[in-house]
Amino acid sequence: MVTAVFSNSTVASVVGQGQGLGFGEILRNIRMVEPGLNLLEQYWAAWYCYMDNDVLATGLLFFLLHETMYFVRSLPWFIIDQIPYFRKYKIQPTKIPSAKEQWHCLKSVMLSHFLVESIPIWTFHPMCVKLGISVEAPFPSWTTIIPEIALFFVLEDTWHYWAHRLFHYGVFYKYIHKQHHRYAAPFGLCAEYAHPAETMTLGFGTVGMPILYVMYTGKLHLFTLCLWITLRLFQAVDSHSGYDFPWSLNKFLPFWAGAEHHDLHHHYFIGNYASSFRWWDYALETESGLEAKATREERMKRKAENKIKKLN
Ligand SMILES: [Zn+2]
Ligand SMILES: [Zn+2]
Repeated sequence: MVTAVFSNSTVASVVGQGQGLGFGEILRNIRMVEPGLNLLEQYWAAWYCYMDNDVLATGLLFFLLHETMYFVRSLPWFIIDQIPYFRKYKIQPTKIPSAKEQWHCLKSVMLSHFLVESIPIWTFHPMCVKLGISVEAPFPSWTTIIPEIALFFVLEDTWHYWAHRLFHYGVFYKYIHKQHHRYAAPFGLCAEYAHPAETMTLGFGTVGMPILYVMYTGKLHLFTLCLWITLRLFQAVDSHSGYDFPWSLNKFLPFWAGAEHHDLHHHYFIGNYASSFRWWDYALETESGLEAKATREERMKRKAENKIKKLN
């Protein structure tokens, strides 16, 4: 079957799809036939032509992307945990995860990745075709990609806030979400340490929101989705890192949640339910921690005083 990576289907056979050529050879042919493609687009197209099976190409791409990005992003935090210099930036400085804890977490996360997350990954391409998610090279422009990713961040954060808040109620907590709260002082690797039901539910925010988007607009590129998933993974791992630096993103974007926000959630078990942003917790008065409680009470006091003033 000819790959959908080129809008002109004859290009695929010209560059050597299905002729048993090596990846390097196909890449060289693509450079000659399609000189307008940038480096990333060339590799993307070569991958699809080399695989000679779009279902396998998309499935493997997603699985490898998830594994690589998750562990590549967790590794620096693991190293930082071994260096005492960084202790001053640790939000809960006395709680350094032990090797045993990290090993347990790693095993569980790997098992979950292979068993739970591999199923939707393997059925992803047929769904892409049905929904009209494109795999074509060239990619859309950055003016299309950036607003789409920004929208996915906002939508995912909203889904995450409500689903996570629900997970803190009675049976949902007891039988599902409790697993994720095993670590009161989180570390990067434990971002996806969760019950399969939680992984599926919260994962809907990451994968389901772009699906709803493409169902509505009829247009989305798989590269945008790959980029979004990578950034969302980075956000999840970083928010569990346990470190708040003077150069952390939340210091420049005050509405960005960051590790400080989610660490408090693990510490107090209550409040700070959102993933990427602070606005839901602020607006619905569910911020965690003593400081937030004090400002909330101050705000309520001021409101009450103003009301009395108005009445008088
Ligand atoms: Zn929680
Ligand atoms: Zn967490």
